[in-house]
Amino acid sequence: MSTTSIVKSCTTTACSFNDGGCTALAITVGGSGAKATCTTFIALDARAGLSSPSGQVGACKRLECVHNTDLLCTAAEIAVAGDAAECLTYEAR
Ligand code: SF4
Ligand code: SF4
Repeated sequence: MSTTSIVKSCTTTACSFNDGGCTALAITVGGSGAKATCTTFIALDARAGLSSPSGQVGACKRLECVHNTDLLCTAAEIAVAGDAAECLTYEAR
């Protein structure tokens, strides 16, 4: 299984880590209910992170997602979008 899940795209431009994509070294995905969300999302009046968009999923708390094994994301890549920084790749078992 793949242990490196890339944040292929993120359209949550309000996030300080967004610079044409996710520049955080490793994000955490969590949230509750029907939507999984990026909990690394932070809206500050500053840009942060790596100099290029190559973020990865460090941990994911959504054990019920089909891509989750031992709190890691096994999808090769995920997409994040929207005001709530939703993981569009989330799929409940
Ligand atoms: S994936 Fe999360 S941390 Fe990365 S830019 Fe999007 S909202 Fe921000
Ligand atoms: S695809 Fe599933 S396991 Fe991977 S980050 Fe999204 S919710 Fe978590």
